[in-house]
Amino acid sequence: MELGIRGRTALVTGASKGIGRAVAEALAAEGARVFLVARSRERLLELARRLREQGTEADFLAVDLAREDAAERVLEALRRFGDAELFLGNTGGPPPGSAEDLPPEAWVRAFGELFLPMVRLVRGLLPGMKARRFGRIVFITSISVKEPVENLALSNGVRAGLTGYLKTLSREVAPHGVTVNAVGPGYTQTERVEALLAHQAEREGVPVEEVKGRLEAQIPMRRLGRPEEIAAAAVFLLSEPAGYITGQTLIADGGYVRALL
Ligand code: NAD
Repeated sequence: MELGIRGRTALVTGASKGIGRAVAEALAAEGARVFLVARSRERLLELARRLREQGTEADFLAVDLAREDAAERVLEALRRFGDAELFLGNTGGPPPGSAEDLPPEAWVRAFGELFLPMVRLVRGLLPGMKARRFGRIVFITSISVKEPVENLALSNGVRAGLTGYLKTLSREVAPHGVTVNAVGPGYTQTERVEALLAHQAEREGVPVEEVKGRLEAQIPMRRLGRPEEIAAAAVFLLSEPAGYITGQTLIADGGYVRALL
């Protein structure tokens, strides 16, 4: 299938590692020009260099998206690189914790890291997408939007909010040729999941292999996902042929979620 991605400019946030990085690499492989955003300058520099060596036009900005001025800085740098038609909105997950224990400040922080940067970036990108009558927006959320995950109250709450935002937005911008969707990863082999497994193992006082083994046993595929497998779902939703799909969450979880829809 021709994905219609070649030559298009993509903004990928949370691009230095894990799922975001895999999406940036997959888009580059499809011929996109990619603008990378994350906090670590070193990792971004290394990735941008490698992509350029492979013939991809790539640039980056190292910035903490939780900062209020971050989105404006990204949009300004992006103006010099090119108008983004594709946007992969992603940042790191919030810390674990129960709904009962987490203080209001933790909710404000999570909202500021996972929700507000997406709203700010979308507001900056939409005028260009609407003018060209083409745009693809995909957020990385989580299986938690289908089935809340125990002890991840912040993720469960804030991503549900982001999903409500994207559904509302998708109907508003559909007449302009812009689609807005999400990919909800299940357990995927990244630094984030290694940290969550280590946290769980510590809480229970058992080896991390035991916690991982138990988790894998609950996944019908009997293994964690690979970042490239989540990226494949995102790249499809960012593609031209996916133009009639909007307001949706595509779960990529090896069959983990039991919900019917
Ligand atoms: P990761 O920690 O491996 O990578 C996160 C990326 O986001 C990195 O590039 C990091 O630098 C960047 N980032 C984090 N905070 C940022 C900030 N404030 N400003 C700018 N960049 C920031 O995480 P991952 O496993 O690839 O997960 C990506 C997203 O998917 C997260 O929101 C995570 O919660 C969610 N998710 C992951 C899994 C999983 O199993 N890995 C499952 C469900 C949901």
